[in-house]
Amino acid sequence: MLVWIGSPRKIGSHLLLLDRDGVLNVDSPDYIKSWGEFVFYPDALEALRAFRLMGVSVVISSNQSGLHRGIIRWSDFWYLHEQMVRTIREAGGDLLAAFYCPHRPDEACECRKPSPSLLLTASQLYGVPPESTVFIGDRITDIQAAVAAGSKPVLLERTPLGGVQWSDFGIPAPPKRVKSLREVESLFIGASSMV
Ligand SMILES: [Zn+2]
Repeated sequence: MLVWIGSPRKIGSHLLLLDRDGVLNVDSPDYIKSWGEFVFYPDALEALRAFRLMGVSVVISSNQSGLHRGIIRWSDFWYLHEQMVRTIREAGGDLLAAFYCPHRPDEACECRKPSPSLLLTASQLYGVPPESTVFIGDRITDIQAAVAAGSKPVLLERTPLGGVQWSDFGIPAPPKRVKSLREVESLFIGASSMV
């Protein structure tokens, strides 16, 4: 597991865990290999600013198997990360930490989602019970990871996933679905009403 910690202390009482590709930025089947390929969704930067103003701490939890596949260069990966953090902060938002899995599926590591490991590590580091966290992702494996961690799952559908038989994926109840990260802000209004 790759760990970047921007601050060891969280702000506010809420911990929001976010997938990266497809949530903060436009995903690609060819992987996001460099900062030049990283395109923020505008609503992501706006939402991150709103989260900071609301006292919601944000942590990234992302699979990046392109690293061990040899598709993403390590130097490019960390440069992208630093530029992403810089851009978020310039837009008035913040990231508290980021946890990445660099492994390929065949390495059978413990951190690759749908394992809950990336989420649980964030929960432990910041002393927030998993059930008091929210995890937002765009894939079924994200929802599986959230359910396994005990985090509240939210499916971000920038393009509709369509009908999913959630029980076929070991997910007992359909997750909340949103179409924009801006919709997530309302989940935190009214203090801990959501979690
Ligand atoms: Zn891993």
